[in-house]
Amino acid sequence: MNTTIFERSTPIAPGLINDALSSSKPGSFWLEDLGSPTFARYAGDASYDLVVVGGGYTGLWTALQAKQRNPGARVALLEAKTIGCAASGRNGGFCESTLTHGESNGESRFPEELAQLDRLGAENLDEIERTVAESGWDCDFERTGSLAVATEEYQIDELRAAHDGENELFFDADDIRAQLNSPSYLAGLWSKRATAMIHPGKLARELAIACAAAGVDLFEKSPALGLDVSDVATIRTGHGTITADRVALATNAFPSLLKRFQLHTVPVYDYVLMTEPLSAAQLASVGWGNRQGVADTGNQFHYYRLTADNRILWGGYDAIYHYGGRIRPEYDDRRETFEKLASHFFTTFPQLEGLRFSHRWGGVIDTSTRFCAFFGRAFGGRVSYAAGFTGLGVAATRFAANVMLDHLAGLETERTSLKMVRSIPLPFPPEPAAYLGVQATRWALNRADHNDGKRNLLLKTLDAAGLGFDS
Ligand SMILES: Cc1cc2nc3c(=O)[nH]c(=O)nc-3n(C[C@H](O)[C@H](O)[C@H](O)COP(=O)(O)OP(=O)(O)OC[C@H]3O[C@@H](n4cnc5c(N)ncnc54)[C@H](O)[C@@H]3O)c2cc1C
Repeated sequence: MNTTIFERSTPIAPGLINDALSSSKPGSFWLEDLGSPTFARYAGDASYDLVVVGGGYTGLWTALQAKQRNPGARVALLEAKTIGCAASGRNGGFCESTLTHGESNGESRFPEELAQLDRLGAENLDEIERTVAESGWDCDFERTGSLAVATEEYQIDELRAAHDGENELFFDADDIRAQLNSPSYLAGLWSKRATAMIHPGKLARELAIACAAAGVDLFEKSPALGLDVSDVATIRTGHGTITADRVALATNAFPSLLKRFQLHTVPVYDYVLMTEPLSAAQLASVGWGNRQGVADTGNQFHYYRLTADNRILWGGYDAIYHYGGRIRPEYDDRRETFEKLASHFFTTFPQLEGLRFSHRWGGVIDTSTRFCAFFGRAFGGRVSYAAGFTGLGVAATRFAANVMLDHLAGLETERTSLKMVRSIPLPFPPEPAAYLGVQATRWALNRADHNDGKRNLLLKTLDAAGLGFDS
């Protein structure tokens, strides 16, 4: 097997990794000192037109847009812990227009409607930008675009082939380093309009404030424990029941209240490091004047970006699945992954030796076998469901919220007529096959990264079957 740049060029200073990690604290930087409003625990036996379960972006956009569509509707949102505590408060903040987890995934799964999906995704991102501006939301929104970088020879042609001209710039090795100075870069592709950077925690906070202002009743520490539907939908909580005419389920990687969708996603842990703010000299040493969000282009990839106060967020690469789909707080902190991430960081930016990480955290993403959201309906259309964003839901959750509201209102729209919306992906197999399958696929993806991107028989078979595993 070949080596990758991250093995050929490991940081050599003794103790560098330990020193850099030594003062990092566990927990999402984005959720620290947010000053978010808090909401009461649900208790009683109230009744609503719509109850939304889950207080991440999907649930918040659903509740907010439900009130915008029908200001008189009585809408409640139940969040098991605190608003934005899960993926929505822990992500990289890449707010991307793609609804299909990138062009090549969209091309392989929905070739006949990819142009339409791309247009709808671009409109969705434009509408987010407009909402942020018109509502004066404080969420550090910057439409910087994204930079895909090649760190291995075979990736250069992939990037060149992906270059479609409009709103994109291709850079060779010299030019890419003028954008962002890393000795590991061989080429780059800047998609100028497709991505904005946001502060994830602030976006969740602004959404919650907007929901409350619109008249949504938000409840925290209020898990929905069960759902029964007859004439009305009844949700059991720890402190009473709540009845509703319609229910939107927005529980992402957590177990679905609808048994039929419990095998359609697996929870996969993704990990992130945040540095201290860079000094002016450190920032000058990397350049990064256009402040793009960056990702390298292996199967196992890193994503990284600047924050408003010029820290670097550095995440990705490992994708960890625990047997049985377990989600536990202790899994948020994984030393082995953080050491690997830190090592890869200094391979990429050796000039930042001495910079320390201030925060480290992990979170679960809802991986589906087609890598992008799917939409379910149950109980004659009274209950709607969206999940499966596979680590790319910051913007796509708003689109999904609109699909759920279309479904719950019984509307036929351009959105609901999409094949992507009408089709449901294959589920993952039950254990132990899920665990064995995920481990085998991870091994094969790692092998492909060490073999000029060439996919082995297992990956080709999964590709042909439309079954995949990704983070
Ligand atoms: C480390 C990391 C990095 C990421 N980076 C990016 C990125 O840069 N760009 C991007 O587009 N995407 C990224 N993602 C993915 C993105 O964050 C998610 O797709 C998005 O936040 C999903 O929003 P959500 O509301 O569906 O889920 P969540 O934010 O997970 O919210 C679901 C909520 O439902 C609640 N819940 C679950 N069950 C119940 C119940 N029974 N009753 C009540 N409440 C319940 C949970 O407590 C949780 O708050 C990343 C994810 C992670 C973990």
